[in-house]
Order: sequence, then structure tokens, then C-alpha cells
Amino acid sequence: MMTNNLSELVAWRHHFHQHPEVSNFEFETTAYIKQLLSSWGVRLVPTTLTTGVIAEVGDASKGPTIALRADIDALPITEATGATYTSVNTGVMHACGHDFHQTALLGSAFELKQNEAELQGLIRFIFQPAEETHTGADDVIAAGHIDDVQAIVGFHNKPDLQVGEVGILKGGLMAAVDQFKVTFTGIGTHAAMPQLGNDPIVALSTTISTLQTIVARNVDPQQTAVVSVTHIAGGSTWNVLPESAWFEGTIRTFTNETRALSKQRFYDIVNGQAQAFGLKVVIDWSKGPDVTENDPVLTEIVSDETSKFLKVVKPAPSNAGEDFATFSQKIPGVFVFFGSHGTADWHHPDFDVDDAALPLAVEWYTRIATRLLREI
Ligand SMILES: [Zn+2]
Ligand SMILES: [Zn+2]
Repeated sequence: MMTNNLSELVAWRHHFHQHPEVSNFEFETTAYIKQLLSSWGVRLVPTTLTTGVIAEVGDASKGPTIALRADIDALPITEATGATYTSVNTGVMHACGHDFHQTALLGSAFELKQNEAELQGLIRFIFQPAEETHTGADDVIAAGHIDDVQAIVGFHNKPDLQVGEVGILKGGLMAAVDQFKVTFTGIGTHAAMPQLGNDPIVALSTTISTLQTIVARNVDPQQTAVVSVTHIAGGSTWNVLPESAWFEGTIRTFTNETRALSKQRFYDIVNGQAQAFGLKVVIDWSKGPDVTENDPVLTEIVSDETSKFLKVVKPAPSNAGEDFATFSQKIPGVFVFFGSHGTADWHHPDFDVDDAALPLAVEWYTRIATRLLREI
């Protein structure tokens, strides 16, 4: 039987880090997790999920059912950390630290399995696929894995918190995410004869600038929002005005009101600009995760238990989105930031976590799960 010591945790984490897989393609990751869990006798729950692992310890007849969730996918980023365990999958990298999350949950599954007879209820481990594409939580829910769950808990590593610090906040911790793509279509022509066509490039640049007024002039200054255009494309050479051009990006907000207002202003501005320039416009709007909202009662319990062995700090909410929100809209949930003293921020080619935080995260999952079974 394996023991749950630091060197073993580090070995698992480095294995995941070296073999990252993008959303919905976490096949080897899934196999590795299943193999470890099975070797400890942890029950694997049958699932219709293609990737990801659902497992359980405990007994639902003895008390409540709770879920511990970790995400397992990586990102299409080329790693630049220079670590000895650098990704061997070209162009794919664990740049969000999900290798850390799944390792901590594995360690906790091992520990909880050792104490299974004493558990006052059932603990379900959700190794969730496809967080980065914000579809995995929906798939786990559709597969029925939280139908009987009374509370769900998860965390994200936080590079700017020290090892031993945990950021806990009641209410909104991470932002609602909306994604947009706008395509302007006019009439292509020679660059030297713009009067013969209808140029989408100038309209696009004016529109992108004007969209910044949503935050500067529409959103309440006491609220927060981000409007980022991240990708623009149009034309193919220097002396031709193209027929069409497009841009895409994202909006992040922390309340439903700000979210609705930002979307309305976005449509008003884009449609208004298209009309002003006499262009056709298509807006593709994709609604991402809602605000990651922490249940006040559960948050109190989690905060109290955490403060017994770690330093609880009040974090600033993050404008990143997190599809844990999809779970915590359905059932009470708590999501926290776990100090990982990172070398760079999330999604950066230099990103990595401090392995010293691993045993703390294992203990955190274990203690929170055990306490929640007794108290909810
Ligand atoms: Zn991420
Ligand atoms: Zn992440």
C-alpha cells in the first residue's frame, strides 16, 4: 500500500504536469487517476463521462453526501518554466495548476479511504474534465453525479498567496464570463479607391475603442467589469480593403445587473456602429459560467475549520471565471483560493506551483470533508 507522503504527492503532480492533456482529451490523466484509486480500493462510480473520474468513499446511509471537486485539464500553451518535469506534450501545459488540484484530491481520497469506517456519510470525488472550456461541470451534472449531493467544495491554487494561506470569501469569488465574436461585412475594394467599397477595418477599430466606454461610462464605479477584445482579424494584404473583418473577446462581471447592463450596451454599441458605417453585422454571444457564489453557512464552517491549521485571508475577487459556479448554482458550494506561491500568474508559460502546498491541500480537503459530514 502506498503512503501519502510528500515525495509521493510530488511524484504524482510532476507526472500530471509532464503529461498535460487539453479539455475533453484527458484520457491518460483519467487512466492514471483510476489506476491509483483502484489500487487503494476506492470505489469508482460508473459514469457516462468520456473523460474524468467519479469515485466514492463512505456510506450514504450514515449521513449526508458531499462532493469534493478538482479539475484535471490543461491548456494549449507552450511551457517555458524550464522545470525538470516540463510538459512532453508539445504546445500543451498545466498552466492553471490543475495538476496540483487533482493531486491534492487524490491524496485526500487515499487518506479518507484509510478512515472510511469512521466517516459519517458519503464523500464523492469529482475529477472534472474540461474546466478551461467551461463545459465539464455541465457534463458532470448531466451525468447525474450531484443529484444526491448536499454540498460541494473545491479550490483553485492562488499564486499570489503564500503557502499556508487560504483565501476565503462569502458571496462572489470569481467572475461571470461572457464571450463574444463580432463580424462586420461590407464591400471589398482597392486600397487606393475606398470610395468604391465599404471598409470594415475602420469600423472595427472605432467599435473596439468605443466598447471601452461600457466600463468607463456605463458600469457603476462601485461595481467592477472588464471588457477585453483579444483577437482581431481582417484582410490579407497591404493594398486591398477586405470585404469583412472580425474581433472576439470577453466580458467579466460580478453581479447579474452589471452583467445584463454590459451585454445590452455591447449590443447597442456594435449595432449602432454597424449602422453608422452601413455594414452588416453578426454578433455571436456565448454565455459562460456565472459568478462563483459561496454559500454563507458552508463558508462559515469551511473558514472555521481552515483557520485551525492554516492562515485564512480575505482575497480580492478574481476576474477569471470558474465553472465550479455551475455546481454552486445547483447546490450549496464553497470555493476557496489555496496559497501556492506561484512563479507567474494563471495561464502564463512560466506558471508553476510550490509543491510545499500539496500536503496542506490534501489535509484541507480531508478535514473539510470530515467536518461537513458531521455538521450539515
Ligand atoms: Zn485556467
Ligand atoms: Zn484553473
